[in-house]
Amino acid sequence: MGAQGSGKGTQAERIGPQLKLVKVATGDLFRSAIAQQSELGLQVQSIIESGNLVPDELTNAIVQVRLAQIAANREKSDEVQGALFDGFPRTEAQARALDDILAAQGTKLDAVIEIDVPREKLITRLSGRRTCENCGAVYHVESDPPQVDGICDKCGGKLIQREDDKPDSIARRLALYDNQTRPLLDYYREKGILVTVDGDQNIDTVTAEILAALNERASA
Ligand SMILES: [Zn+2]
Repeated sequence: MGAQGSGKGTQAERIGPQLKLVKVATGDLFRSAIAQQSELGLQVQSIIESGNLVPDELTNAIVQVRLAQIAANREKSDEVQGALFDGFPRTEAQARALDDILAAQGTKLDAVIEIDVPREKLITRLSGRRTCENCGAVYHVESDPPQVDGICDKCGGKLIQREDDKPDSIARRLALYDNQTRPLLDYYREKGILVTVDGDQNIDTVTAEILAALNERASA
């Protein structure tokens, strides 16, 4: 768990392979369900095309199918040890549904990692992002600038600030996190499975701290 700009996705990409956990991200699941044109995929496609948010029941159904596949793969292979959720659950209703899905499969969440980054740092990270309008490469004006200001190193394309990375949009996304997702931290804290890691450090240090915390829990 973590707000946009916390490095949550980056850490998930690193932690998952190390612990042999399959990433479960609803955006990826929607895309793959649509690509497969499964019954659920067709429903998702029509909802997204009409500009609406995919409702919880449908999201939960898709997660349930994916978790059943992962459980089956775990039986067959030592290379699959479990699942790592990224960007799900986002609401308390989804969190409760996930608990039910997992309980029905005879399992539960082992840990919930919160990557905590001070608000002003999140805003700096997000507002400094520049994206190549040609190839999609992402830069940061302070921490990862291109060699030539405003020009993509990879393809020479023009760097732009995406609508999502403009101040109004950033404020909206952070408010959404505060209102919908932050209450989940208390939900998981009460269950005794919340681990908070300081995300205002370099990427390698954050990864090491997450792994250490998970390790400690596993051996406790
Ligand atoms: Zn480019």
